Amino acid sequence: MSDTTIGHWLDNEAYQGTSGRFGDVTNPATGAVTAQVVLADEDDAARVIAAAKRASTAWATTSLTQRTKIVFRFRELLNERKTELAAIITSEHGKVLDDALGEVTRGLEVVEFACGMPHLLKGSMSEQISGGVDIHSKRQPLGVVGIISPFNFPAMVPMWFYPLAIAAGNTVVIKPSEKDPSAVVWTAELWKEAGLPAGVFNVLQGDKVAVDALLDSPDVKSISFVGSTPIARYVYERASQAGKRVQALGGAKNHMLVLPDADLDLAADAAVNAGYGSAGERCMAISVLVAVGNIADELVAKIAERTRTLRIGDGTRGTDMGPLVTLAHRDKVASFIDAGDEAGASLVIDGRESPADGADDGFWLGPTLFDHVTPDMSIYTEEIFGPVLSVVRVDTYDEGVALVNTNQYGNGVAIFTRNGGAARKFELEVEVGMIGVNVPIPVPMAYYSFGGWKNSLFGDTHAHGVEGVHFFTRGKVVTTRWADPAESPSGGLELAFPTHG
Ligand code: NAD
Repeated sequence: MSDTTIGHWLDNEAYQGTSGRFGDVTNPATGAVTAQVVLADEDDAARVIAAAKRASTAWATTSLTQRTKIVFRFRELLNERKTELAAIITSEHGKVLDDALGEVTRGLEVVEFACGMPHLLKGSMSEQISGGVDIHSKRQPLGVVGIISPFNFPAMVPMWFYPLAIAAGNTVVIKPSEKDPSAVVWTAELWKEAGLPAGVFNVLQGDKVAVDALLDSPDVKSISFVGSTPIARYVYERASQAGKRVQALGGAKNHMLVLPDADLDLAADAAVNAGYGSAGERCMAISVLVAVGNIADELVAKIAERTRTLRIGDGTRGTDMGPLVTLAHRDKVASFIDAGDEAGASLVIDGRESPADGADDGFWLGPTLFDHVTPDMSIYTEEIFGPVLSVVRVDTYDEGVALVNTNQYGNGVAIFTRNGGAARKFELEVEVGMIGVNVPIPVPMAYYSFGGWKNSLFGDTHAHGVEGVHFFTRGKVVTTRWADPAESPSGGLELAFPTHG
């Protein structure tokens, strides 16, 4: 038990709510409970959503110049104090400090993109489409928007959405993961310091009760969700039925295809970085390496050699890989290793036996490498979301692409080759939203959009970039007639469908 309570945030103040429900927040490197997060009930949720609603008209009509200045100030403050945020992420998520800083930096890029909102919101205008008639388009904010985020990027994933939503004139309610809820509260305080008016950025802490309240509230106009596929599907269906605009990003099983002509040292480095970075708790992690042709023995040896050099331990001590987020998650990932072993895959490196530089009660699990994995094994079919890399051997490129294309997920994929023609063919054929060519984690820059295909995304709009701006705004087209004062203002009677001559 801990005396520290992490609350909601509304009207630019912390709010403890009245639900009397709490969840434990732990430090994964020590196993200690470091705080209690409040878990909202319906009344708490209604109160937070009401604050966002109260602020929405004033914020939507605040000048674009003023809104952008506040977003820019937020960018400056975040940049100055990003190491503070990184430390918070490490203390609740467990990822190593460098990685946490990388997460903040990628989020910061979306804030920088949002500073260009005056340009992004420009509509178009056509003059004299008919005598005295002009037409122009504009985009307007939705009102209150809901954001529900996962544990694995407690700062960056919310930042995929709220900078654009706020800059475009919406007010937001964010429901962070209850496993690492402090990062979003810290950013709430930063927004206040940047001059954001009360009620524009609100935080609703909680679990399914809080999520359902956001999905059902008629005052919440859109939902941006990121998390596992079953919950993404549920969120998509329930919020769509409630008439909302929804983008629900789900799980992943990202493949890395290595062709026989690839630079195997480059591929081995990439597989280790993308397989074990952040302990595999990334939706863009590589979890399946598809070795094409006769390179598998050499490639697996190179990966194993590199993996054995990784230092596992407390992320504040300059290690390479931290613990998993919770004990339950650590045990779930370990059970996948048991299952792969029992199913007959070759266990080249067993993370269950890795020593860790950290407290005994930390949620440790070392990097695990399986070879000779087949597509019927659970370590292949399921999203593990931990430091487990499975090597599948295939004879041809076509077999490799077929594996990727028949997988239920389509978030990220990578191909390693020296052949530009092969890479181009892959880009054309592969059914995945984000593709890397000799790049293992192809997370798009903020000015492009992030999103997968198939069961990795429900809805049709990806996160950030121009698609993000469209998601958080609605279009209007205005057709205007102003007669020349020297001419007759009357158009005469004409009941036929209007055409513009
Ligand atoms: P999760 O689905 O357990 O939780 C995500 C959010 O949903 C959290 O805020 C949680 O409180 C809420 N939630 C959990 N159970 C719920 C329920 N029954 N009803 C309503 N809401 C519920 O996901 P997680 O474990 O926090 O995050 C890991 C998952 O997120 C992985 O599957 C990963 O692939 C995915 N992810 C996807 C992307 C992407 O861009 N596609 C990015 C990051 C993470």
